Amino acid sequence: MPAYSPHLRGYYGERFIPVENRKFTILSVLAHPDDESFGMGGSLALYATRGAAVHLVCATRGEVGEVGPEYLQDYASIGELREAELRCASGHLGLAGVYFMDYRDSGMPGSLDNQHPQALAAQPLEQVAARVAQYIRKIRPQVVVTFDPIGGYHHPDHVAMHKATVLAFELAGDPSFSGDGDKTLPPYQPQKLYFHTISRRWMRTMVRLMPLMGKNPNKWGRNGDIDIAALAIEDFPIDAEIDYHRVAEQKKAASACHASQGGMMLDLGVFRWLFKLMVTDTDYFMRAVPPPGGRKEKDLFEGVG
Ligand SMILES: [Zn+2]
Repeated sequence: MPAYSPHLRGYYGERFIPVENRKFTILSVLAHPDDESFGMGGSLALYATRGAAVHLVCATRGEVGEVGPEYLQDYASIGELREAELRCASGHLGLAGVYFMDYRDSGMPGSLDNQHPQALAAQPLEQVAARVAQYIRKIRPQVVVTFDPIGGYHHPDHVAMHKATVLAFELAGDPSFSGDGDKTLPPYQPQKLYFHTISRRWMRTMVRLMPLMGKNPNKWGRNGDIDIAALAIEDFPIDAEIDYHRVAEQKKAASACHASQGGMMLDLGVFRWLFKLMVTDTDYFMRAVPPPGGRKEKDLFEGVG
């Protein structure tokens, strides 16, 4: 058996991708360029390496992100820069396709950007879901992944894409759904739906440690708008744990593509060493379909036939 190589695409030596022509396909539905690399990027890279076709639908180009002028020299807009960053990241992750829905980035709750007519958070849920359902019918993934019900940290765009994806998962397989745009696509029902979530154990540890280091756990992140203390008490079940340590370098390289958003490091300061100790190259997922039960999965394609 050949040694595992993260660069050898199509090698099926790992036990869960059978040696046959069946194309395993996964669709990740997210909101902004960087959500993939700062979130479930390790799992996406892992499945791409193992021969699955990994696709990403990104609702916006992250137009509202804060960007230093030094990053914008070669770009006409923040959206254009961040699209380029995502394309860079998708190369490192080995994505088979990246699709932009062309909505506009919304700000955090209360921000004026939420009221922009193109703002994702201002769109009717049914319309966004109908478009996601069309991507599902086109790409025909067995597995769909998106944000958890609070969008990781209550970002309105993340929550919007969570809701739209849950609805789209149903619509795609519903013969009575006539589609949006290209109406010729036949119904297609993916088999599994997962929500990526953040380890609560990690959050709770951070909440305890941050005050000791002079940091406020209610004001985390680059913009100080993430309340880890509040997030830590919203617990979600973990139904699948994906160990992506073999492709950790790819995830790191993809994260570095998003230099305008701080790359891999979110203003950790003295936390850098602690963060390194606590990051375990594992992604955590809740499973929505089929309903969870029993043992914790180690593979999102488990049981896919
Ligand atoms: Zn985001």
